[in-house]
Amino acid sequence: MSQHFLLSAASRTLSLRSIYKAGEDAAYQTFCEMRWPETDGEPVCPVCSHEEAYKINTRRKFKCKNCLHQFSVTSGTIFASRKMDFVDLLAAIFLIVNASKGMSMVQLSRDLDCQYKTAFVLAHKLREAIAREVHTGEVLDGHVEIDGAYFGGHIRPANAKVDRVDRRKKEHQTGKRRVVIAMREREGRTLPFIGMSEGEGIALANENVSSLSTMSADEASHWDELHNGWNVDRVNHSEIYSDHGKHTNMVESFFSRLRNMIQGQHHGVSPHYLHQYANHAAWLEDNRRTDNGTLTQIVVSNTMDAPVSRNWKGYWQRAA
Ligand SMILES: [Zn+2]
Repeated sequence: MSQHFLLSAASRTLSLRSIYKAGEDAAYQTFCEMRWPETDGEPVCPVCSHEEAYKINTRRKFKCKNCLHQFSVTSGTIFASRKMDFVDLLAAIFLIVNASKGMSMVQLSRDLDCQYKTAFVLAHKLREAIAREVHTGEVLDGHVEIDGAYFGGHIRPANAKVDRVDRRKKEHQTGKRRVVIAMREREGRTLPFIGMSEGEGIALANENVSSLSTMSADEASHWDELHNGWNVDRVNHSEIYSDHGKHTNMVESFFSRLRNMIQGQHHGVSPHYLHQYANHAAWLEDNRRTDNGTLTQIVVSNTMDAPVSRNWKGYWQRAA
């Protein structure tokens, strides 16, 4: 039997030791190179795109020689007004990409020795940057599997039987239950969305799956409509999971990862954050055979490409 990828040396091309041994200057240089790849890390003015700037080395700032605008490597990115050292940011990204089932914010705050609030916002910003690679705007093609799974809104049964309610009834529900609907190419990308019911998947498929694709779905009746738009393989899970190549195993393994992530790391999830976890799990699925050095670079590059976050900038100041 072949070795699992995560156990192979090929999956490990970077280490925490090497990040900290190389130090703050090297980490800073990495962010510069990912922000300005076309100039090998030399600053480009974010206002006028001029390529010459004065370097204010003591504060790691630049001043454009053309328009005199002052900026830093993180100006206008998701890490704008960061306080953490670059080496710690790089380490945080490394820890997150290594955690193949996600990582709780408590663990991240312990590993980095930073406040929980800092780790919370940092992890969410990283997920937001990662989501840019998941939701590219390109439609899925080839063989595409679709499925949905419900998350959240669990109602704990009362201690005594006489106090227990019918948890299926609407008046007893929390309003926090959501469905994650995912479409996954057999040979490629995973694309998750959040909805209230699985039937919303038909409209999502219309928007996001090429009409030339073949689709796979389970026996649930709301998928019948897919036959109007695509050639569809159906598999009846009450009888068989895989029937001569007819299966939804790829999208099921995405749901398995998401469930492990939410149950094992985050212990439940608010409907506000579910899309972030779904995107994170999709990205981990799609990159499950990429080495950790490359993954770290990809995420650094995404953060340098992602604009200031409307959701997470000043989050705790607003919440206070
Ligand atoms: Zn300028």
